[in-house]
Amino acid sequence: MTRIKRGDTVLVITGKDKGKKGKVAKVFNRKEVKKTSFLIEGVNIAKRHIKPSKGFPQGGILEKELPIYQSKVMLVCPICNQPSRQGRRIMATGKYARFCKKCGENIDKI
Ligand SMILES: [Zn+2]
Repeated sequence: MTRIKRGDTVLVITGKDKGKKGKVAKVFNRKEVKKTSFLIEGVNIAKRHIKPSKGFPQGGILEKELPIYQSKVMLVCPICNQPSRQGRRIMATGKYARFCKKCGENIDKI
């Protein structure tokens, strides 16, 4: 299973935003939601029409990103800039780093 982290760039592979790329702004893990999902900048934007109110006197349209499920996105490798699968390798420091199965480079700088 690929682990996607905040700050990663991902490609949407299905749904209305298919083909869009964006940066992961927030990760919701399974403790918070049923399926792991992400808020991605500029992706899955919902528009809400707001009636004029005290706090928002003109009313109008509010745009807000909604979370998208992990299964709908693929991590884009920052080195070869291609959507790819990742593996994990253990580094000399004892920490795990993700690596891209396409170009073989480490994605995490450890
Ligand atoms: Zn790569």
